[in-house]
Amino acid sequence: MSLEVSTHSDRRFRALIEHGTDAIALLAPDGTVTYASPSIERILGYPPQEFMTINGFAVIHPGDLPSLAHTFQHLLAIPGLVATQQVRSRHKDGTWRWVEATLTNLVHNPDVQAVVTNLHDITGRKQAEEKLKALAEQTEESEQRFRLLADGAPVMIWTSGIDKLCTYFNAPWLAFTGRTLEQELGNGWTEGVHPADTQRCLDVYTSSFDARKPFSMDYRLRRWDGQYRWIVDNGIPFSTPDGTFTGYIGSCIDITERRRLEQQLQYSERKLRTLVESNILGVVVADVDGQIYEINDRAAQMVGYSKDELLAETFNWQRLVPPDSYETQAQATKTLLSTGALPPFEGEYLRKDGSRVPVLAAGTLLDQERRLALGVILDISERIEAERRKQEFLSMVSHELRTPLTSIMGLIELALMQIDLRPRSLPPEAEGLLGQIEKTLKRADGQVEIETRLVEELLEVTRLEMRKFELSLHPENLVTIVQEIVANQQQAARTRQIELVLPPDELVPVIADAGRVGQVLTNYLANALKYAPVDQVVSVRLAVEASSARVSVCDQGPGLTPEQQSRVWERFYQVAAPGHQGPDGGLGLGLAIARAIVEQHQGQVGVQSAPGQGSTFWFTLPLS
Ligand code: ADP
Repeated sequence: MSLEVSTHSDRRFRALIEHGTDAIALLAPDGTVTYASPSIERILGYPPQEFMTINGFAVIHPGDLPSLAHTFQHLLAIPGLVATQQVRSRHKDGTWRWVEATLTNLVHNPDVQAVVTNLHDITGRKQAEEKLKALAEQTEESEQRFRLLADGAPVMIWTSGIDKLCTYFNAPWLAFTGRTLEQELGNGWTEGVHPADTQRCLDVYTSSFDARKPFSMDYRLRRWDGQYRWIVDNGIPFSTPDGTFTGYIGSCIDITERRRLEQQLQYSERKLRTLVESNILGVVVADVDGQIYEINDRAAQMVGYSKDELLAETFNWQRLVPPDSYETQAQATKTLLSTGALPPFEGEYLRKDGSRVPVLAAGTLLDQERRLALGVILDISERIEAERRKQEFLSMVSHELRTPLTSIMGLIELALMQIDLRPRSLPPEAEGLLGQIEKTLKRADGQVEIETRLVEELLEVTRLEMRKFELSLHPENLVTIVQEIVANQQQAARTRQIELVLPPDELVPVIADAGRVGQVLTNYLANALKYAPVDQVVSVRLAVEASSARVSVCDQGPGLTPEQQSRVWERFYQVAAPGHQGPDGGLGLGLAIARAIVEQHQGQVGVQSAPGQGSTFWFTLPLS
């Protein structure tokens, strides 16, 4: 069929059809194309004539065919009905094009007798739509992936939009604050920020946001249990791949513990700095191999080197140790490494000019791995000097006291002798008087004896301190020494029970000053007899160990606390507790002297005791 051109308006109509962007085709009820406008070629690639040789349904995508067929059937049933459907049609080049077909049933119209089909190419629109849909799907998917990731992350995460309002908080955030997402969204989260931090927090956020700059800020955030915790919040601006700014994403972690540790560290660092810089004490940081890493002025000054000299890599701490202390130093290093600390000890360091400086030092291990230690040193020259002067004074005083004491004793002896040699013919009153004088003199003699012993002790201890203490060493049998002393003491205290336990060997050989060793045992034994109840046995035991002999004196006296046990070895120390006051008013020097004697023999002293359970004082001597 062809359209007749008759009138002017017909021509205009035809021109419209032939030059329009949409194509028009007339379809017979069986799909035969009875007319196709030229635009069909632009849409489907077929020249109109060629298109008219194919069936209209033949170019429809099989997937769209059933619904189109259905529409067509429905359309044919109702004259004048208009239906619109989007279908895919095959282009002549084999590709599929989306067309929107508007079908009008004009089969009954004698002038047309066909279904007028208006074809509008919507491929571009469809493609754009599909792209958009795919993009939306992608976005949704990546959003879902982001949330999954964020919820599983061990940090708190939030996001905000370009209006600065928060759009998302991950599960860890919500678990931390104990609030719902709805409560936190927008500016809701600021309700949990500590009031003292809110303004600062908002200022940082707003200014960084406006500048599109990353930020990091610390603030306190209320936890679900009401406790404010310090968190660090790192925010970064976020944009799409094409550079469009979309907001911020931030992550936070609870740094309360870290802050506390940091503060503690800063505090102890400050304390240490103050100590180092105050220069009251010498402070040194060095490794146990002798490399010095830090030293303060005070320490440098003590040893007479400049700090630079001491810190030089070529300098070694060992240079400050006098050769006679090498062994002590090695022992100290061992103690430091095994226990982590070096208790205060007195020693000497060599100054640059060769002189020696007496010090009190202590150390602690800073870093086990790097074997780094901190040492604190106190110059005790002045104390030592004062001590020396005191000793000198004591020594002088003792000497001065001893001389008149000796004369007093001599004079008392003389007086007693004179009484003894009195004429036999004295009147009874004179005899009575002399008898009384004799008693008084004997009492005086007893007192002078005590006094003399005290002065002797004083002299002895001063000699000890001033290292004027000479031993006369000989090979001796310790069994003999012990037996002798026990016998002497038993003689002096006949009413007391002293038990002696000896080893099977009859000879326990030692290199010793017999008199001095005897003095030690006498002191232990005298103390035991002095402090223990008179009806209790005191036992003396001599035992042989691997490379030494051990002598111990065990009593059932008042016993000593651990502190007293360590202090009884000090000069002039006497336990103040009841049961410890001897009848002779001792000076508290006996054990100090005993220790000095034993140590000079390369032996050791010690005590085992507990309050109320008696004491065992012991000493050892190396076997020869
Ligand atoms: P002192 O001349 O005072 O006995 P020591 O140096 O011998 O001096 O003893 C010091 C102190 O130790 C004594 O004063 C006493 O308090 C205490 N002590 C010594 N031996 C004993 C002991 N066997 N039992 C209880 N306390 C003791």
